[in-house]
Amino acid sequence: MRISFASEQGQGRANEDRVCAGGDWALVIDGATAVPGVDSGCRHGVSWMVDRLCGALAAELSAERPAPLADCLAAAIAAVGRAHGGECDLENPDSPSAAVALARPEPSGGAARGAARRVEYLVLADCTVLLAEDGAEPTAVTDDRVDHLPGGRPYSAELVRANRNAEGGFWVAGAVPEAAYRAVTGVSRRAGAPFALMTDGCARLAAYYGHSWRGIWRRLEAEGPESLVSWVRAEERDHGVPGGKLHDDATAAVGVFGPAAARPPR
Ligand SMILES: [Zn+2]
Repeated sequence: MRISFASEQGQGRANEDRVCAGGDWALVIDGATAVPGVDSGCRHGVSWMVDRLCGALAAELSAERPAPLADCLAAAIAAVGRAHGGECDLENPDSPSAAVALARPEPSGGAARGAARRVEYLVLADCTVLLAEDGAEPTAVTDDRVDHLPGGRPYSAELVRANRNAEGGFWVAGAVPEAAYRAVTGVSRRAGAPFALMTDGCARLAAYYGHSWRGIWRRLEAEGPESLVSWVRAEERDHGVPGGKLHDDATAAVGVFGPAAARPPR
């Protein structure tokens, strides 16, 4: 495999994005910013939580016989829950949570040894997976259920709390392992498809500034993930942000799994 990544802190006190890759997997995590003045019920905080989730996912994805992606995420969420210890109130609707995107080659299922395999992915909450399939436009996959809560925007804090990890609402990696089974999952059409993972701080290029996924992919392919983050920052400075933080934590990973014959992303 080849993979490269970049992650840049936004305006918070710490970067609460994480990016990590192993021999045949890659992930990004975007910790949900704590609401100022709200008791989360957790004495650890978001950075602690995303570090633990990253470590637990790395362990699951690197297991000798890795489980299905949703099982890996469910086990990692459960492990982080145990790591909080007994003093944190994980029933608190403001307890730390995160969005997650995972990618790896799908299980070989009898494919010839060394043959390129399709890319399987999992997205929970507002991270994005990009897949460079055959054809001009890459496929972008995200989980936008938080954008479709009952009644529409603007949301009250109560509405968001009531719909977090709830039937008909939106699902995040927090205290509920069940959320892993509500993630968006799929497989690339093309074996050995180059892919990218990004947090919503980078996906702003499409969501806020109207850039096509084709243009975003081209930039990633030609100039790498650092260039994508610089592009986001330039757009934010030049055009502002429609509500919310001017600079969010922004993370992008780009890569390809499989044999050397596959075209590298750069
Ligand atoms: Zn805690």
